Amino acid sequence: MRYERPTTLKAAAQMLAKEKGQAFILAGGTDLLVRLRTGFIEPDLIVDIKGINGSKAIQKTATGFKIGAAVSGAELGEHAALKKAWPGVVEAANLIGSKQVQGRCTMSGNLCNASPAADSVPALVAAAAKAVIVGPKGKRTVAVEEIPVGPGKTSLKKGEIIESIVLPKRPPKSGDAYLRFIPRTEMDIAVVGVGVSLTLDGKGVVTKARVALGAVAPTVRLVPAAAKALIGTKMDKAALDAMAAACSAACSPIDDKRGTRDFRIKVAGVLARRAAVIARKRAGGK
Ligand SMILES: Cc1cc2nc3c(=O)[nH]c(=O)nc-3n(C[C@H](O)[C@H](O)[C@H](O)COP(=O)(O)OP(=O)(O)OC[C@H]3O[C@@H](n4cnc5c(N)ncnc54)[C@H](O)[C@@H]3O)c2cc1C
Repeated sequence: MRYERPTTLKAAAQMLAKEKGQAFILAGGTDLLVRLRTGFIEPDLIVDIKGINGSKAIQKTATGFKIGAAVSGAELGEHAALKKAWPGVVEAANLIGSKQVQGRCTMSGNLCNASPAADSVPALVAAAAKAVIVGPKGKRTVAVEEIPVGPGKTSLKKGEIIESIVLPKRPPKSGDAYLRFIPRTEMDIAVVGVGVSLTLDGKGVVTKARVALGAVAPTVRLVPAAAKALIGTKMDKAALDAMAAACSAACSPIDDKRGTRDFRIKVAGVLARRAAVIARKRAGGK
C-alpha cells in the first residue's frame, strides 16, 4: 500500500485518477482507518489531503463560508463567526464521536462516507450547503444532497475530491438547528436526525425553510413538504403539526436494534418540531 500526501488538489486528483487498484482519500481517517483495520478494504493507494493548501482553512467570504475538506469538527466548534451564523451545522458536526474523534473528523468525510445516519449531513442539507468538487476534468459545485446516492455510495467519479463545503450567507432573522435521537447519551449512531433552517420576516412569519431527515431512508432526505408547512406561518400548532406529519410521511426506515420502523417514523415528527422551535428562537422569533 502506498501513502501519499500531496500539496495540491491537482496532484491529488491525478494520483487518484491514475491508480489502477483501490484508491482512497484520507481526511480525518475516523471512518477509513476503522474500515482498513477491520479488513473491509485493502487499499493500494491512500491519498492524505491534509497537506493540501487551504484544506484546513475556514474562510468567511462575501457569499458565506468556505470550509476546507480537512477542517476538523473541533476547528469548526472553535470558529466563533461560523458558530454564530450556522449554529445547527456546527452542533451537528460536534455531535460526531468523542473529543478524540472531533480532533480529526471532517464534514466532507462524514458526507463521503455516505452513511444514512451521518450527523452533519441533515444539517448541511437543511442549510443548502454546496460541495465544491475538484477532479481530473476540472471543478464542479453540487448541492450536498447529491453526493450520497445510497449507503456507502457517492456520486463522486474516479479521481474526484471534495475541496470544500460552502455555506451560503444568511439573511437577517435566520436560524438553524440539528437534533438526533440515540439510545445512549453520546457516542452512538442516530436513530433519527433532523436539521431545520429557516428565515423569519419582521412579524415572525417564516419566509424560507428547509428541513432534512437522517437515518430514516437510504440517504439523507430533504423534505420540501415539511418546509412548505412552515412557510407563510408563524409556526403555530397547526403549522408544526403539518410539518411533523410531512416529516413522518417522508420516512422509509429500516427496523434495527436501535429502533423499529414505527418508532423512527414517529420520532422524526417529534424531533422536527423541536428542531424547528429551536431554529425559530435562534432566528430571533418567539
Ligand atoms: C468512535 C467513533 C464514533 C463516531 N461517531 C459518529 C457520530 O456520532 N456521528 C457520525 O455521523 N459519525 C460518527 N463516526 C464516523 C466518522 O467519525 C464520521 O463519519 C467522520 O465525519 C468522518 O470524517 P473523516 O474526515 O474522519 O473521514 P475519513 O475516514 O477520512 O473518510 C471517510 C470516507 O470519505 C472519503 N473522503 C474523505 N474526505 C473526502 C473528500 N474531501 N473528498 C472525497 N472523499 C472523501 C474517504 O475516502 C472515505 O471513504 C464515528 C466514528 C468513530 C470511530
